[in-house]
Order: sequence, then C-alpha cells, then structure tokens
Amino acid sequence: MATYDLVCNECGHEFEVFVQGFLEDKDRVCPKCDATDVRQKFSSFLRNLGCSAPAGSGFG
Ligand SMILES: [Zn+2]
Repeated sequence: MATYDLVCNECGHEFEVFVQGFLEDKDRVCPKCDATDVRQKFSSFLRNLGCSAPAGSGFG
C-alpha cells in the first residue's frame, strides 16, 4: 500500500490516492472535477513509513 499526493492541473485541488502498488492512469483522476490532468506532488512513501512507526519506539 502506498500513498500518492496528487495535484489537479485543472482546479488545483490537492488530494491523496491509496494504491496497492504503483500509480496507474486510472488512479490519476481528480475527485473534485474528474479531470485526468493531474500531477504527482511527491512520493509520500517514506513519509508514510515514518507515520506508521509505533510511538515510543526509540528516542527514549
Ligand atoms: Zn480538479
């Protein structure tokens, strides 16, 4: 499972998509205006790993 941050080039709406593997064309659709002209902001894969880390493990 990976999360991708996308930005719609049509309306500027920023949204996230959750996919099992790689981002496919069918996933690149703006939920707000249905535009397929969206771009990827950045890969949040590493960020997600950090967020899912159990609290209190390390840094103690
Ligand atoms: Zn849009």
